[in-house]
Amino acid sequence: MKITRVETFQVQWRPEDPPTSRSAFVRVWCDDGRSGLGEVSPMQGGLISLTILKHHIAQAIVGADPLDHAVLHDRLLHRLVKLGPEGALSSALAGLDIALWDLKGQLLGQPVWRLLGGAWRTELPFYSSIGGNGAPRSLSEVLRIVEARLADKPSAIKIRFDNDRVDLDGDIADHVAKARAVRKLVGDDFPLAFDANNGYSPSGAMRVGRVLEELGYWWFEEPVQHYHVRATGELAQKLSITVSAGEQSYTTAAVADLIHAGVRMVQPDIVKMGGITGMQRCAALAQALGAELVPHQTQPTIGHTANLHIAATLLHATKPCELNDPSPRMHAVFANPPKPVNGLFHLPTAPGLGLVIDESALARLRVELPG
Ligand code: CA
Repeated sequence: MKITRVETFQVQWRPEDPPTSRSAFVRVWCDDGRSGLGEVSPMQGGLISLTILKHHIAQAIVGADPLDHAVLHDRLLHRLVKLGPEGALSSALAGLDIALWDLKGQLLGQPVWRLLGGAWRTELPFYSSIGGNGAPRSLSEVLRIVEARLADKPSAIKIRFDNDRVDLDGDIADHVAKARAVRKLVGDDFPLAFDANNGYSPSGAMRVGRVLEELGYWWFEEPVQHYHVRATGELAQKLSITVSAGEQSYTTAAVADLIHAGVRMVQPDIVKMGGITGMQRCAALAQALGAELVPHQTQPTIGHTANLHIAATLLHATKPCELNDPSPRMHAVFANPPKPVNGLFHLPTAPGLGLVIDESALARLRVELPG
């Protein structure tokens, strides 16, 4: 079995979307005519990761065996490491790895989760991840949006503040008022999480963390800058609420650094680091060190589905899977996009990721890279 072609392209969901708001896909074909589909991080339209794939990876893996995906991942990471492993390169390799797992499943006639060793659960609860709750969104608007998302029957809700990372602590009073109002809206027993999106200083984070403890929030995500690993660990050790981080960790070693600093819940993202292979390694790491692995995942279809496969295989799934705000990216180009039924996603049983591509829709929305 040999890889014959690697395609890299964006998907433009709406005519008005600029190149930086598109999805970024990678499709790997092999010599029996089948293909696997993966996705890289869509930050800035994934253009840099797609360019790395197109110019530095695609030709290099033609002729390779797609079942050698882990060897290919590690060889390419080390060969291209001076492009900077923390971001665009690791995301490029994540997308490639997801595509190769999809292809592997099709070649072997099994869903990815079965190739990973089997599922602990085939129905997966989710939490609604609601962004943009900082200024200028009003408190009443926050409540209206939270109330609307409850209709999806999530098992928890996370309110994100998407703070300005260069203006720390400025809106703490507003954030705390909104956290209190959301708690009052959903009642004392409904699980809530709070995502600071790196918006606080360590002391500001401590103030907010104490309030979240009083309000019974489940976890407190990325309270300080992601590169302040030690400060994140110190907060995690001082607060009784679970402090989480990791969506901006791009290597297994970086996730290990967070855990060693004292963080007890890590959130690497399957389209940003390692793909399915990388998440398997993070699962082993977290299990060995006694940390919770709760993958970050905000992409609606390929990333979400790949994440479901890995989440189903986790021994200790302590939190539900993330489901981002409704998006125009959501369901186009797939005939069977994942949709929750009564608050649960059902694990696909078809080979590979189990996504059925609507080829005509994909051809219509596909945008080739320049050059
Ligand atoms: Ca987050």
